Amino acid sequence: MVAAPGGQGDNFAAAVRLRGFRRSVPAAIVKRGAGVPPGQHMTAEEFRRHGRDVVDWIADYLERVDDLPVLAQVEPGEVRAQLPVHPPEDAEPFDEILADVDRVIVPGLTHWQSPSFFAYFPANTSGPSILGELLSAGLGVQGMLWATSPACTELETLVLDWMIELLALPDRFRSDGAGGGVLQDSASSATLCALLAARERVTGGSGDLPAAQLVVYATAEAHSSVEKAARIAGLGSAAVHLIPVDDNHAMRPEALDAALAEDVGAGRTPCLVVATVGTTGSNAVDPVAAIAEITARHGAWLHVDAAMSGIAALCEELRWLHDGLDRADSYCVNPHKWMLTNFDCDCFYVADREPLVRALSVLPEYLRNVASDSGAVLDYRDWQVPLGRRFRALKLWFVIRHYGGSGLRRHVRDHVALAQELADWVRADRDWELAAPAPLNLVCLRHRDGDGVTQQVLERLNASGAAYLTHTRLQGRYVLRVAIGGATTRREHVQRLWHLLRDTADAVSAESDR
Ligand SMILES: *Cc1c(COP(=O)(O)O)cnc(C)c1O
Repeated sequence: MVAAPGGQGDNFAAAVRLRGFRRSVPAAIVKRGAGVPPGQHMTAEEFRRHGRDVVDWIADYLERVDDLPVLAQVEPGEVRAQLPVHPPEDAEPFDEILADVDRVIVPGLTHWQSPSFFAYFPANTSGPSILGELLSAGLGVQGMLWATSPACTELETLVLDWMIELLALPDRFRSDGAGGGVLQDSASSATLCALLAARERVTGGSGDLPAAQLVVYATAEAHSSVEKAARIAGLGSAAVHLIPVDDNHAMRPEALDAALAEDVGAGRTPCLVVATVGTTGSNAVDPVAAIAEITARHGAWLHVDAAMSGIAALCEELRWLHDGLDRADSYCVNPHKWMLTNFDCDCFYVADREPLVRALSVLPEYLRNVASDSGAVLDYRDWQVPLGRRFRALKLWFVIRHYGGSGLRRHVRDHVALAQELADWVRADRDWELAAPAPLNLVCLRHRDGDGVTQQVLERLNASGAAYLTHTRLQGRYVLRVAIGGATTRREHVQRLWHLLRDTADAVSAESDR
């Protein structure tokens, strides 16, 4: 049952009614859980015991993850083949379930929390985040409306405003003005929502313009979620116009200007420009200030995707990353990549929430309530694609309070310093070279003997389980990416990786000489 609060008075009255109800039920029945057949649910005592086991299990895992092969060493189908084909008809003991995690699941894992995980982008987690997530599951709250759990909405709004302070983001994203922030599952969802809001604003909500006329702009280095959003929104892949990049893989603003002018001349409507701060491939930073000026001149919406690298703005000396952001219409950054918060947790901000809410709000009778009708509250269901939403803000709140701004900054500075040191080693080496500038925590490198050697080094290193790296192609060349962002990655791990890279390359070269 959901109370439909209006003002304070109604809230209070509802609370009193509920307390009265609770008192009228015999305490023994409430305690035992009326109507539950014995043995069906976990008792509170069993839950405590198994819960402690699971927390111990996680603590042990995080302690020993450094010793496990980073990349899963299984063949396709191997995990499934070890498990029963059919679901159990009879209940199974919890201890047996947990034992199978060790026996079957762990060997089939790639260990993202290993300090020698340097692939893709980090997905680091931490004690306070894991516990916040557990609490969220324990509460089982559905925060789709303010009224379905006021604390879920209000804590989310608060931590998103805190993130604005921590990252020194523009005040126009704050919730006490026309804008505001919301937690999305991922940066991909943020980009999709930005596109839907942009379309709403550009078309004046009429939906009359044929979707084929709307254009989205990004570079080929932008995340694949841009094209995916264009497809989902019905604009299609062809609506994404790729803007050329400079030698550092960043968007060339004059090329954007020319593309926008050409499309307008041809009767098309510029809808959304996506600038990336820290591209996935090479960590390139698009020049947001110049892009913002051009985008505004053509009346399009500017979304800035800073999924990983935006976290660097915790540190004052790295805030150049966000130059020009004060003119962006929307922005996203992922604490689930580089801010010790376990997946999923993406902060998405808009400077004006009106078009977003107009694009995504459909109000059926069964969701109507006094608080929403009063306009005094935020209903985050209108800020995202799904209706339901979990209490994600708890883990972010725990993380921010546990580390404090100073602890979070230290964590980022350590990774940036390690990456800079690795980049120096590469620069000074005879056999390896940097393939892109390394402004933050991503180092892109390749072997001077060519793509074949570089690729073989990657394959051997990953197969050994000693570390895990992934690759990309930059200007047609095969490039290794070293993303430094593990919660427990220290200098010794990066140093060991560097030795492994050099030794593996020597082995590959020696074999090809024979
Ligand atoms: C990782 C990344 C994404 C996708 O992030 P998800 O949250 O996993 O959807 C989008 N953009 C950039 C620049 C990224 O680095």
